[in-house]
Amino acid sequence: MLRFAPSPTGDMHIGNLRVAIFNYISSIQREEPLLIRIEDTDKERNIPGKEKEIFEILALFGIHYQEEQFQSNNLRFHRAMAIQLLQDKKAFNCFCTPESLDAKKGASKEAKVAYRYDGTCANLPAEAVIDNPNPFTIRLKKPKHPITVTDLIKGESTFAPEDIDSFILMRADKYPTYNFACAVDDMIADISLIIRGEDHLSNTPKQIAIHEALGYTKKVEYAHLPIILNNEGKKMSKRDNGSSVKWLLEEGFLPDAITNYLIMMGNKTPTEIFSLKEAVKWFDLKTLSKAPARFDLDKLKFINREHLKGLDPKELSRYVGFADEEIGQLAKIFLEEASTLKELRAKVGAVFAPKSVPEEYLEGFNLLRDLTRKAPHFDDYEAYKNYLIQHSGLKEKNLFKPLRLLLSGAEHGPELSDLYGALKNYLKEVAK
Ligand code: GLU
Repeated sequence: MLRFAPSPTGDMHIGNLRVAIFNYISSIQREEPLLIRIEDTDKERNIPGKEKEIFEILALFGIHYQEEQFQSNNLRFHRAMAIQLLQDKKAFNCFCTPESLDAKKGASKEAKVAYRYDGTCANLPAEAVIDNPNPFTIRLKKPKHPITVTDLIKGESTFAPEDIDSFILMRADKYPTYNFACAVDDMIADISLIIRGEDHLSNTPKQIAIHEALGYTKKVEYAHLPIILNNEGKKMSKRDNGSSVKWLLEEGFLPDAITNYLIMMGNKTPTEIFSLKEAVKWFDLKTLSKAPARFDLDKLKFINREHLKGLDPKELSRYVGFADEEIGQLAKIFLEEASTLKELRAKVGAVFAPKSVPEEYLEGFNLLRDLTRKAPHFDDYEAYKNYLIQHSGLKEKNLFKPLRLLLSGAEHGPELSDLYGALKNYLKEVAK
């Protein structure tokens, strides 16, 4: 089984979506089920409703899965396994107060050395534990040997016991830390391959140490995806608009185009434009670049435009907010100068909206508008144009400028004959 394990603590980041997509593709390729596990054990950071948003986004992107779990429902397993580790002397109760720990961390910082737990409670006599009424955390005893993480993308990294340290499994409030809950849940779900962001690489030896302490011997595979950088080469953060899946959707990027781009980023793909279904056939985690991927909004725009071009007019029309196929044709014409649905809606909207016309063309515009209102139907642009010339006496710039304003609401844009072709059945509305 594979798993995607988002926390419902904020808007979905493109990095998370990329992890979800790669898990989905790998689950199909390996013919293993996919589990969505909502990691909701950090009660303070949870935001109500975010889990619903996660499921909506997965559905919108066509990421199908077989199982769904809320981590908080596994609390009894986390607690039972913590007790097991205490009994096996693989873990210990730690009564150090937050204040004393903070003071030690402060001292390490001052001395410019990395803070490590000093083992104060690692070997307390049984009486000191049993009769102790004070709050405590549960820590895993630091491993006795280095732990090597073998990663499908990054290769091997080895972590010394001191760097893994005697870390906390259960907090004083009897809730598990991320590392403990995650390691236990992955074990219970029999996860075979963990695909997640590179920011978790330093957690992996800790989770392996937990598995070892629990006597779990399955060889879990790992793939940590390189981080995503923004235009300036810095780690993409919430402040970068493009990092939020919701923002990209609101801007009018198609899910298929976003997926295409996220698979292509930092990767060699056989073609530039493809669907998720096609990617399943050739995608290989091992060919992903080890280097951070750089997010390029212009590239995403290009890909989005290509996907928009591939839609049939009726579908495109619906996306733009209309029902008729012809509006889809009109939108296609505007695709030359628009690359998102939002931009397309603005262009199509301007065709039907009241037009603001520069003073110098106002007279011509009013004339053409009135003529168009009264005109018979012309199937052909040349015939329409000749009719206007004949009845208005306007020509050249004095004809074309106001005519373009009338048909598109803009001074520049696609060929008038193309516009007319898509608009000929809507002229009364355009000239209203
Ligand atoms: N909840 C963690 C996150 O969203 C999951 C990491 C993991 O996949 O283990 O970053």
